[in-house]
Amino acid sequence: MKKLFVSFFAITLLFSCNKSTKSNEDKALDGKFDKYKDGFVTALWKISPDWAAGVGYHKLDSVLVVPNEAQQKIELDFINAQLDSLKQFDVENLSDNNKTDFRMIKNQLESSVFSIKELKSYEWNPSEYNVCGSFAEILNGKYDSLEVRLRAFNAKMNNVPAYYEAAKANIKNPTIEHTELAIAQNLGGSSVFDADLNAALKQSKLSETEKKEMLEKAKVAKKAISDYAEWLKTTPNKTPRSFRLGAALYAKKFDFNIQSSYTADEIFKIAVDHKKDLHDKMFVLADKLWTKYKGTEPKPTNKLDLIKQVIDKISLQHTTPEKFQSEIEKQIPELTAYVKAKDLLYIDPSKPLVVRKEPAYMAGVAGASISAPGPYDKNANTYYNVGSMTGWTAENSESYLREYNDYILQILNIHEAIPGHYTQLVYSNQSPSIIKSILGNGAMVEGWAVYAEKMMLESGYKNSDEMWLMYYKWNLRTTCNTILDISVHTKNMSKEAAIDLLTKEAFQQQAEADGKWKRVTLSQVQLCSYFTGYTEIYNLREELKKKEGDKFNLKKFHEKFLSFGSAPVKYIKELMLSKE
Ligand code: ZN
Ligand code: ZN
Repeated sequence: MKKLFVSFFAITLLFSCNKSTKSNEDKALDGKFDKYKDGFVTALWKISPDWAAGVGYHKLDSVLVVPNEAQQKIELDFINAQLDSLKQFDVENLSDNNKTDFRMIKNQLESSVFSIKELKSYEWNPSEYNVCGSFAEILNGKYDSLEVRLRAFNAKMNNVPAYYEAAKANIKNPTIEHTELAIAQNLGGSSVFDADLNAALKQSKLSETEKKEMLEKAKVAKKAISDYAEWLKTTPNKTPRSFRLGAALYAKKFDFNIQSSYTADEIFKIAVDHKKDLHDKMFVLADKLWTKYKGTEPKPTNKLDLIKQVIDKISLQHTTPEKFQSEIEKQIPELTAYVKAKDLLYIDPSKPLVVRKEPAYMAGVAGASISAPGPYDKNANTYYNVGSMTGWTAENSESYLREYNDYILQILNIHEAIPGHYTQLVYSNQSPSIIKSILGNGAMVEGWAVYAEKMMLESGYKNSDEMWLMYYKWNLRTTCNTILDISVHTKNMSKEAAIDLLTKEAFQQQAEADGKWKRVTLSQVQLCSYFTGYTEIYNLREELKKKEGDKFNLKKFHEKFLSFGSAPVKYIKELMLSKE
């Protein structure tokens, strides 16, 4: 009897003791991993000061890293040391936040090994070498006094000649497309070393000697840049590399960049089916709308022609260049009120979105974009930058406004602002992980914005046949981006076939299609992020809906999904399904 009691007691004691030490151990492990992350980030900034500056860490602004062999060895040593350190953590025992951070760090490190040893774009992409952007950011930044920033600018200039010498030593059989881009971007950006620097020096309180020294060095920097451009123009390149990445490298780059549960081949098939599905839905709507917009005109026999003619007519409903920004400003509170009324997700009112005219140094980049505060500057404003059409020809403005007509402009605002990018960013800043801020997954971020468009329309937002037809056209863009990217890089798609796909099957203007062709010759994989992320998020939602039946709650799903920060969808999915 006594014995039994003792052993029973011992077991419960053992059990509870085990339980409590286990969670203490886990807490200790998480603490240890948090420390590891701090060290990782500090070491990462040391080898990549430009990346650091880009996210608001400015302690290393005066350093320009020379991309030579010695630097590559430093990077590989860093990667191997970090991969080794990761081995001391059992990922299963970490918190959810640290589990995803662990996997994102590991992916980043392995992806860097792939870039250095297999992708080797530092050999064939001369546009990877350009110092102008990081110098321009020092001049444009508001994070410190002008004098402090100019002194960092001054010290950073020391390495510019060595930087371009290392570039020349690395480059072998570059692609023609990236060579031309490198020449244009380096020459275009080099005004930062004369006009822009001159203007900043005039405003500054630096001594005349210091100013003179900087102007001398700037001349040397500018010459190094023009010499590099000249070298690219005149060095014989008899066997240039093709801009097409090829199936083997593409598949690997896709896995590292998108971090999806789908392979490139799988998402390609899904995109092709989705395009067909969109065409079928669009035909039904366009056919129904024909008389309203085309009266008694005879219907074309080709289905795609019929859709295009109706779209062209609806696109004539648009705002003016003068009202473009105020139209966007007006829609933001409408969207917020709608999301609230329909209980779609919580929007934190303490972090308002500021709509502004695109600042001069960003001009010409995109019609609309979001500037979010980085991890070192969380309390700064989030801006919705709107491009202005001042100085455009009437023809160009008209074409742009037809593209961003009254229907598409609303979808654009859903995508960029509410409940798209801006809303996701507010949630992401609440999940306190610097890793997710700096290594955030592009497919998750873009996928969320694309998912938000569909979700808003499904909930009834401004529903009409016209709205749905235009939404499908917009969605065709991301779908065809994926088809285009994979076809061009792995299936040898010709330029002619590519332009046909974009203009005839995705109803794009010639100028837009030409721009997209240029983009696909210069980048790889990124164009797939929108559709892949969207597909994964949508499918996850449908899977949970099926599983939970009546208990499924859309608002809860959105808030839970966003609470993991900008992690790859496949990891969020794993965590959400395991919580069931
Ligand atoms: Zn018009
Ligand atoms: Zn986006």
